Amino acid sequence: MQQINYKTPEELQFLTEKSRQETASFIRKLKKKKPKNLDDVVHELHHEAFDSFSCLDCANCCKTIGPRLTNKDIDRLAKHLKLKPSVFLEQYVKTDEDGDFVFKERPCPFLLPDNYCMVYASRPKACREYPHTDRKRFLQILNLSHKNCETCPVVYEIFEELKKK
Ligand code: SF4
Ligand code: SF4
Repeated sequence: MQQINYKTPEELQFLTEKSRQETASFIRKLKKKKPKNLDDVVHELHHEAFDSFSCLDCANCCKTIGPRLTNKDIDRLAKHLKLKPSVFLEQYVKTDEDGDFVFKERPCPFLLPDNYCMVYASRPKACREYPHTDRKRFLQILNLSHKNCETCPVVYEIFEELKKK
């Protein structure tokens, strides 16, 4: 896998758009074929990518998308900040168009200027799991991951590598 270089969300949106048809057709083929080793291949690419690329040089996800928050996330974050959950909700959280809890602001209110996360130890589950390239059954999240190519330079490169294989 080639060395990952940081790309802005604008650059990633442009590149993802440029290869949209090609990637969509590749995804259709994968869904049909259901390759048994897909998880292994994606996990290997994930580790290769993050061995040489640091999220601290990016933070695109924290700047532009923001996580969905569970009740457990809210309790944990409120405790971390020594706030009552109701105060935390009032100060930081809104309900989006799907009825999910999300942070009121983007970039995330806990993203520091050097791209560190102020609440890292207590960060939401969705932040821990993003960009999902080390999870099981990657086949089930191909469309979501195609969307994530517009945000995450690692996901974008993983798709480019997969298409070559
Ligand atoms: S909580 Fe931390 S990891 Fe999650 S979006 Fe905010 S800054 Fe990023
Ligand atoms: S998960 Fe992806 S988008 Fe988020 S900081 Fe890391 S490389 Fe960037």
